[in-house]
Amino acid sequence: MKTYKIAVIPGDGIGPEVTFSAVAVLKAAGEREGIAFEFTECDAGGCAIDKYGIPLPEATLDTCRASDAVLLGAVGGPRWDSVEPSLRPERALLGLRAGLGLYSNLRPALMFKELASASPVKNVESMDILIVRELTGGIYFGKHGRSDSAEVLSDGTVKGVTAYDTEEYSTAEITRILKEGFRYAQGRNKKLTLVDKANVLESSRLWREIASSMAPSYPDVELDYLYVDNCSMQLIHRPSSFDVIVTSNMFGDILSDEAGMITGSIGMLPSASLGAPGTPGMYEPVHGSAPDIAGTGKANPLATILSASMLLRWSLGETAASDRIEKAVRSALADGFRTCDIASSESDKIVDTDGMTAAVIQML
Ligand code: NAD
Repeated sequence: MKTYKIAVIPGDGIGPEVTFSAVAVLKAAGEREGIAFEFTECDAGGCAIDKYGIPLPEATLDTCRASDAVLLGAVGGPRWDSVEPSLRPERALLGLRAGLGLYSNLRPALMFKELASASPVKNVESMDILIVRELTGGIYFGKHGRSDSAEVLSDGTVKGVTAYDTEEYSTAEITRILKEGFRYAQGRNKKLTLVDKANVLESSRLWREIASSMAPSYPDVELDYLYVDNCSMQLIHRPSSFDVIVTSNMFGDILSDEAGMITGSIGMLPSASLGAPGTPGMYEPVHGSAPDIAGTGKANPLATILSASMLLRWSLGETAASDRIEKAVRSALADGFRTCDIASSESDKIVDTDGMTAAVIQML
């Protein structure tokens, strides 16, 4: 039997609850498809700070590098909000992305028709968007800093401390992620939208120049451009008209949460972070550690279960097992199973995290 090595990073808050749900579903799907998994649990985030004083121990990174793929829950929480910025739990994510060379973040925002009534946007009949977000460059990785002290100007007035964050992108970084965008569009509905702020930002103008120079190599893909502010409106106005969106690190971070919310709940949104072929990908829900509901059983595990399905497809090439999980999720929803965040009707069968996990496993 084929056995895959999976590094599991449960993290903080609801992270462990949703991660263990996804592991249970992976095991059950594997049994039905004749594949097995060797899961290795690792620490990262707040729990690693508590144990080792740092958010990302080297041993965690080593285990991830030696695995076929990584499944992560979420990190962070108010307990660690006051630690020094370089040691915050979220630094573990940046360290994993940089350490594994994960430059491409895929965030599908798919509306399950069973959940249309849970969408906060009226009359959305369908929506199937893939957001391809650049993950290792841009403002999150650019130079950050503050002037050492307030400055006294010549007229005697005092200018306060100045803080800065820098958006920088190289041709190589932009070309690499645009290639992914064109490729995914070719495999879907052949529409690619580059989202930027080219009316203001020089880095955005470089993205546009490179995209338009690459477009002739992908004649089957229709390329268009949108400013990020307009895109945030159009996602609400005409969500079903988008196919693939390709964008920078920060814009992708924000737009994917917005697109996700239209689908009903952030608890439904999976993601994949991928690097060069042959390197382990990392799969995680889009949501955070949700400290407000941790330990209450209210966490929706479907985003993490769908992330596990993406893991099977994109890192292991196990499409039958991946399809099986997606179908089981649809069947559980069609049968009326709902966690609180996606409940919208009196006939819903309201379940907790374990109840939804059991429903999906039963449908496998
Ligand atoms: P969040 O995504 O954790 O929560 C936002 C809201 O959505 C909350 O009301 C929460 O209860 C709800 N929610 C989230 N996931 C849910 C689920 N699976 N089921 C039901 N409801 C769900 O975002 P936040 O509150 O801004 O951040 C909380 C912590 O998580 C912070 O420390 C933040 O830094 C961290 N964070 C981590 C990641 C990550 O690990 N990838 C991502 C985002 C935020």
